[in-house]
Amino acid sequence: MFSFVVNLRMKTTIRQIARHHCANFNLGMCLGAMFKRIDKKLTYCIDSKYAGKSCFVEKGCVYFEQIVIPGLEREN
Ligand code: SF4
Repeated sequence: MFSFVVNLRMKTTIRQIARHHCANFNLGMCLGAMFKRIDKKLTYCIDSKYAGKSCFVEKGCVYFEQIVIPGLEREN
């Protein structure tokens, strides 16, 4: 029971971080807007693995881990 409560709180917290700081978070859904560097050029695309899906940050999101969290760490 205790681990369930902790797990639930962690999931809630990580989702709240995504809600407040991820540029792709829109009413619980993911916009899927990604920037990729291809041949030294910054390229914008909509990633179909993300776009239009319910935010799945609790299950692991590369964008969240590689873009959102480092951005927050730089702010603090
Ligand atoms: S799935 Fe990832 S990129 Fe999409 S809204 Fe959630 S945290 Fe952001």
